[in-house]
Parts: sequence; structure tokens; C-alpha cells
Amino acid sequence: MAVAASRAPCPPIKVRFMHTGLIHSIDFDADGKQSGHLRLPYSIDRSPYFHIHVPICRIRNGAGPRVLLMAGNHGDEYEGELLLARLMRRLAPAAVRGEITILPMVNVPAVMAARRRSPYDDGNLNRAFPGSADGTPTARIAHFLEHDLFRRHDVVFDLHAGGTSMAHLPCALIEQQGPPERFARALQLMQALAMPYGFVAENGAAAPTSMGAAARAGAIGISGEFGGGATVTRETMRLTARAIDNLLIATGAIAAPVLSEADRPAEPMQLLALDSHDQAIYATRRGWFEPVADVGDRVAAGDLAGYYHDLTRLDLPEEALHFGQGGIVISRRLHTDSEAGDCLIQVARPVAAGDLAAPQADIGG
Ligand SMILES: [Zn+2]
Repeated sequence: MAVAASRAPCPPIKVRFMHTGLIHSIDFDADGKQSGHLRLPYSIDRSPYFHIHVPICRIRNGAGPRVLLMAGNHGDEYEGELLLARLMRRLAPAAVRGEITILPMVNVPAVMAARRRSPYDDGNLNRAFPGSADGTPTARIAHFLEHDLFRRHDVVFDLHAGGTSMAHLPCALIEQQGPPERFARALQLMQALAMPYGFVAENGAAAPTSMGAAARAGAIGISGEFGGGATVTRETMRLTARAIDNLLIATGAIAAPVLSEADRPAEPMQLLALDSHDQAIYATRRGWFEPVADVGDRVAAGDLAGYYHDLTRLDLPEEALHFGQGGIVISRRLHTDSEAGDCLIQVARPVAAGDLAAPQADIGG
């Protein structure tokens, strides 16, 4: 079994222990194309010496931009998973300048279970950063990404969607992270994706998300919600393929599209800000949600968002739900049956690039 020496600047990854950590045989200094697995020892009932195999593809062609592409952070979000797998098959080293690392199913147990979270530990990878080298599988994946893999790259692109229970406006996403010049570059790269919408989230420097982790690792984090409902459509695949190609072209890692056809010119990206829990309507009790607005609608504060029915109290009229803030509807719950705490519908505030305050430069390079 090949055990790769860790070259992470800090802190060292424990790779030699038999029951913790993460092992792989990728040589990050080698030119060419390598396909393999990140392997996590995890003893289970049917296989005491079981390893979870996370597929990884590494393409390097000399010095140049260093880009990490990942999907399957949540298992039931498919545009990125399908397109990054296709990119692994299509991309040849000769077409690349610099380094591209591809993880099409980063939390592979969640992908194989068609779930948001890993069935082994119920771990939500996008809430697991910075993780732990000797924790559960999801914590170990998070730890390796933040402390090793992200540090080797200039740009981390993590592709999401709404998942099984949620419809989402297809949009690019960045967090207010890192020093101002890096945030400015992140905004530039997000706009280069040519998605119809891009939103900027404020999750704080200690965010347990991949974008928080990328910032702490000194990389530019780019993300997006490219579809929803645990499915893909021709349109979401078209937009996502173009976004992946555009990011790689904008960084200089490739010169010509690999996944997308020559396309009609994109409309300018509408920037959106999501910065308050008041932008969402949450269920406060068991009920059945009937939306009257859909993703992409422009709404004003006070507009009717939908009705909340109570099938256990047929004598009661359905409750009218109104938006607390105006904006563009970016997501809504797809499952009608809802419980207290479920986010039913959410709006984001349209903004201009100049309105976005630069984040505080409180994170080291
Ligand atoms: Zn996700």
C-alpha cells in the first residue's frame, strides 16, 4: 500500500495510522494525469478493514494556475457530480496549463446513498470544516481538504445544488471572506462564470463551510447552487458546464471550453445578497406548505408567499404567509409536508457590485 508523504505546510496530516487519517498515492509534483482515490480507513460490520474510496483526478502540465474542482459535498446535488466526472474523462494534460485537481464525489458515501449527509456518521461535510484527522469519515475528509488539499491550490470551486428537498435559483455563490484583494478577485471570477445570478453570503471567518475553509487555507473560494430537487435538467447542465469551462478559462488553466458548446452571449450577472434570517420564512409548527411564488420571482415585503395548511385541523383556515423582505426568490421547499424549523421560502436582495462591503482583513494569507 503506497502511503504518500504529506507535503502540507501546516499542520502535518497523520497519514501513517491504520485507523484514522486519510491516505493516497497522488504525487502532486508529477506532470501528467493521475487518477486514484483518497482512502479513509473505516471499519464497518460487513468489512472490518474497509476503506472509503473518494475518487480524485489530478492533471498537471508545468507551472500555472492551480485549480481544485469539487462536487458531491452534499450527495444529492448532481450537476457538479456528473460534469466533473465527464471532465475527468475528457480533459487531457496537453490542454491544461498548471494544475487541475478534480473531486467529483468528495463525500462519496453521501453520493452513493443519494443523501445530503454521509450515512456512516450523518456528517454534513459543508458544516464539518475545519474537521479532525482522527474524527468520523466526514470530519476526516474536511480536515484533509482544509489542511492539505486546499492549501495546494489558488482557487477552490465547490459545486452545489438545492438537494432533494429544495428548488434553487441557479446561481453562483461566494462568501465575504479573506483580505479585500482576494475578495475582489473572487467576485471577478464569480462574474466570469456567466451564471444569471451570483450571490454573496456572509458566514463569518470561522464558517464551517468549504468557502470558509478555502479562505482559511489561503485560496479563493467559488461556489454555486446549480440546480435542485435531486435532479438535473438540460438548462441546469448547460449553465453548469459553461460555468466550469468559464472558470478554468478565466484562471488560465485551459484555453478552450471542454464541457460546453460555443454559447450565446450571457446576460450580465445579477448580484444578490443574503445576509439576514428575515429573508426566509420558516415553519413554526407541523404543516403543509403551498407556495404562490416560485424561484426567480421578484417580490416585495408584505407580498403573499404562500399558504400553510394544517391537515390535522381541518376546521382551521390555511394561514397566509407573507414575505418579510423583498427581493428575488432564490429557494423554496419542495416537500409540502413541513415541520417547525424548515425553511419554506427565501429571498435575496439584489445589489450592485459597488454595494458589497469588502470583508474585514482578519484572516492571514
Ligand atoms: Zn450543497
